[in-house]
Amino acid sequence: SATTVRVDLAGRPYDIVIGRGLLAELGLRIAALRPGANTVIVTDENVAARHLDTAKASLAGAGITSSEIIIAPGEKSKSIDVFASVCDQILATRIGRNDLVIALGGGVVGDLAGFAAAAVRRGLDYVQVPTTLLAQVDSSVGGKTGINSQYGKNLIGAFHQPILVLADTAVLDTLPEREFQAGYAEVAKYGLIDDAKFFNWLEANWRHVFDGGPEREEAVAICCRAKAAIVARDEKETGDRALLNLGHTFGHALEAGAGFSSRLLHGEAVAIGMVQAFDYSVEQGLANGQDAERVRRHLKSVGLRTRPSEIEGDMPDVDELMALIAQDKKVQRGKLTFILTRGIGESFIAKDVDPAKVHAFLSQQG
Ligand code: NAD
Ligand code: ZN
Repeated sequence: SATTVRVDLAGRPYDIVIGRGLLAELGLRIAALRPGANTVIVTDENVAARHLDTAKASLAGAGITSSEIIIAPGEKSKSIDVFASVCDQILATRIGRNDLVIALGGGVVGDLAGFAAAAVRRGLDYVQVPTTLLAQVDSSVGGKTGINSQYGKNLIGAFHQPILVLADTAVLDTLPEREFQAGYAEVAKYGLIDDAKFFNWLEANWRHVFDGGPEREEAVAICCRAKAAIVARDEKETGDRALLNLGHTFGHALEAGAGFSSRLLHGEAVAIGMVQAFDYSVEQGLANGQDAERVRRHLKSVGLRTRPSEIEGDMPDVDELMALIAQDKKVQRGKLTFILTRGIGESFIAKDVDPAKVHAFLSQQG
């Protein structure tokens, strides 16, 4: 069984196909879309060790040639050097305009390979095969690709939509528990943004999402549909996409404060940031405390940390955190833009947040 989510962007529509065991169908699905294509798989060492054989066998079975480029795992690979090397390696395969790049991996591989596909020969088509929960529900949807600069994360990149996203929920069985939990924060985020029903459902079913029951496929599909809808709306109206930043303003400051290290994964920072967004909204009289407590309890029950004080090691003080927040969100007329909430499923973009109030909130949080 598989679930298909159609992404209807102005340029070219494409499908996100979600299901258990889909990696074995990669060849057939590509052959159906692009008969006669040759492929170059970009992946990282961890994913290659576990899933590259299945991908290659599936392509070979459908009569599709493939070569592979294997990068070191981790955020450091989203660099200009690795990017240049991947572009050269793609060109070395003598890839043609009808051929495809396949990004087989988490968000790092997806962002890097997607950007290489956007750049090589002014744009090759590519397929996303996301292998982390975060990549399946977030980074593989929306067409943002790119790498990091010494000036900051994701500052060099391009919009480049894939022709297909194939999310095999079974490949998540090999993902380290901590990576799964971190990705789950982004899953919960979709409920908190505008889908209270989904959040209720997660409270009842999260164990099955972790266990890999059919609920996992259902959850990934709901998230992809939500992100695709927000991204499509934003193409026309501009602005809505910011809702996806729920928990990310506080979260990014914490991530930066922890030095973007394994002390605090992105999703782990987002979990704490979402609780802070709720707590701050309660403090401002926008939301009620029961909702904030429900959010905290749920994220805690899946094993995520929910307070900055739970981050081990030295963290910046409130002044430094505020400087990081101001850097991240450009301050306009002395005000910050934050995603705040009136409750679970009722988040909104607040463009006039007073930095002094945020400072006071962070100071008494501890
Ligand atoms: P990642 O790609 O580094 O993967 C996390 C770890 O899991 C890595 O060590 C990887 O080797 C390993 N791994 C991946 N799949 C595995 C599997 N099936 N089994 C075992 N190990 C596996 O990190 P991520 O969390 O997937 O992605 C983070 C990146 O995504 C960041 O660079 C972030 O900027 C980017 N991102 C992009 C967007 C976007 O819209 N383009 C959105 C959100 C995040
Ligand atoms: Zn995120």
